[in-house]
Amino acid sequence: MDFSSATKQLKGKLGPRIVRTDRDSRRAASFDSSKIEFPPEAVVFPRGLPDVAAVLQLANRRRVPVTVRGRGTSLTGSAAPARGGWVLDLHHWDKIRIDAQAGLAHVQAGATVERIQSAAEKKGWFYPPDPSSMKYCTIGGNIACNAGGMHGGKYGVTRDYVLGLEVVLADGIIVRLGSRTHKNKTGFDLHRLFVGSEGLLGVVTEATLKLIPLPPFRANLAVGFDSMKNAVRALQSIFAAGFLPCAAELADEFTLVAAYKRTKSESLRGCKAHLIVELDGQINSVRSELKDLERIIRRQKPLFIQRGFGNKECEAVWQIRREFSYALRDTGLTKLNEDIVVPRGKLEQLFKFATTLQKKHGLQLACFGHAGDGNIHTNVMVDYTQPGTKKRAEKCLDELFRWVIASGGAITGEHGIGLAKKRWWPQAVSKEARGLHRTVKHALDPKGILNPGKFV
Ligand SMILES: Cc1cc2nc3c(=O)[nH]c(=O)nc-3n(C[C@H](O)[C@H](O)[C@H](O)COP(=O)(O)OP(=O)(O)OC[C@H]3O[C@@H](n4cnc5c(N)ncnc54)[C@H](O)[C@@H]3O)c2cc1C
Repeated sequence: MDFSSATKQLKGKLGPRIVRTDRDSRRAASFDSSKIEFPPEAVVFPRGLPDVAAVLQLANRRRVPVTVRGRGTSLTGSAAPARGGWVLDLHHWDKIRIDAQAGLAHVQAGATVERIQSAAEKKGWFYPPDPSSMKYCTIGGNIACNAGGMHGGKYGVTRDYVLGLEVVLADGIIVRLGSRTHKNKTGFDLHRLFVGSEGLLGVVTEATLKLIPLPPFRANLAVGFDSMKNAVRALQSIFAAGFLPCAAELADEFTLVAAYKRTKSESLRGCKAHLIVELDGQINSVRSELKDLERIIRRQKPLFIQRGFGNKECEAVWQIRREFSYALRDTGLTKLNEDIVVPRGKLEQLFKFATTLQKKHGLQLACFGHAGDGNIHTNVMVDYTQPGTKKRAEKCLDELFRWVIASGGAITGEHGIGLAKKRWWPQAVSKEARGLHRTVKHALDPKGILNPGKFV
C-alpha cells in the first residue's frame, strides 16, 4: 500500500531529521538477523515520548503500519516491516539508572543488555538474562521476545525480571503498568502482556527491572562422554541430587567434530557428547558442591573432566562453547537454527529423534544448548547447492516440530514466532488460544497497525 501522503504529513510535523525517507535509512531498517526483508516507507528516530505518541496517533488515524525496532538482531523476521509503513527505531534511547538500595534498574528501551548487566555489576547487582547477542540487542527487543540464555534453568528469562513498563499504545496513549517495587498486586498483571508480544501490542519505552545480588564466586566442570545417553543421565542425576546449576550446556557429536576441527582441542577428539555445568554462590559452598557434582558425574563414566574455578578459569571453559557456532559455520553448510524446548525428562529422546531425522532426510543435525531448561538449539544443517534440499529441510522441520509438540514441548523457547515460525503457529497453539490472542490484539490495537503481517 502507498502511505506516502501520511509520511509527508509526519515529516512535516516532526522534521526530516526525525523522519527519514532516504534509501540507506530505509534499507537498514528493512531486515533483521533472519535476513527476511521488507522495505519501510520511513524510519522514525523519536526524540522523546511526545514524538512516539505523535507517530502512533497519526499512524492510527491514517492506518499506517508501525514496526518497532531495537537492534534488529531478531532471528525470526519479527523486526522486518512485513506490511511496509513506518519503522520506529528506539535503539538510541539507552539511559540506565541503577537503584542500588532497591535492587532495581530503570532502563530505556534501547539500552543494550550487556550495558545493563555491567551497570548492575558495578554496584554489586546481577541482571541474569543473558542472550548470546547481549552485546547488541536491546532490552526493548528482549522484552518483546522474552529473551533468555544460558542462565535460564536457574534464574529464568526476561519475563522474570520485568516489574514495570512504560508503554505507548496503538492510539498514542501512554500507560505505566506494573510497579517500581519487587512486589505488587494491584489489578491485572498487565505489564506481563507486553512481555513476548513481539511488538504487536504496544511500544515499550521504559522498563523497571528486578536485580538480584551478584553471586561472588563461580566454578564449572566441562565433561566429555562417549555417549549422549551418559551425558543426559549425568545431568539428570545432578538435578536429582538437589543441585541447581546456573548453567548446564550440552552438545552433540556433530557439533563436537566441527569444534575439534576448528579449535584442535584434544579433549574434544572422539567425544560423543559434551556437558558444561556451572555453579555460583559463596566461595566455600561452591567449592564443596563442585566436588559433590564431580562425584555424581563420575558414575556415568566420563572420558574427561576439566575444572574451572573463578572467573578466569570458568571463561576458559566457556571459550570452547563459544566456538560451537563458528565451528558449524566453518562446515560451509547453512544452519537453520531452531530454538525448540522439551520437558527436561525428554532430552534423551530428543537427541535420539534428531538422529532418526538425520537418517530419514539425509540432512545433518547439530544439537547443542541450554539443557538446564530443555532448550536445545536443534540446527538443521543444509547445503542449498544440492537439488531438493529446501523441500527436504522443510519436511524435516515439520516432523521435528510435530514431535516437539507431541512431546509436550514448545517450538520456540527464545526467538519467538515472527515470520519464520508463522507456518507452525496453528499447530503449536490451540484454536481457542489463537482466538484469545486475536481478542487481546483487537482490544489493544483495533486497527491492526502494530507490526502487522506477523502471527496474530
Ligand atoms: C548471534 C545471535 C545470537 C542470539 N542469541 C540469542 C539468545 O541466546 N537468546 C535469545 O533469546 N535470543 C537470541 N538472539 C535473538 C535476538 O537477539 C533476540 O530476539 C533479541 O531479544 C532481539 O533484540 P533486538 O533489540 O535486536 O530487537 P529487534 O530484533 O529489533 O526486534 C525484535 C522484536 O521486538 C520488537 N521490539 C523491539 N523493541 C521493541 C520495543 N521497544 N517495544 C515493543 N516491541 C519491540 C520488534 O518489533 C520485533 O518484533 C540471538 C540473535 C543473534 C543474531
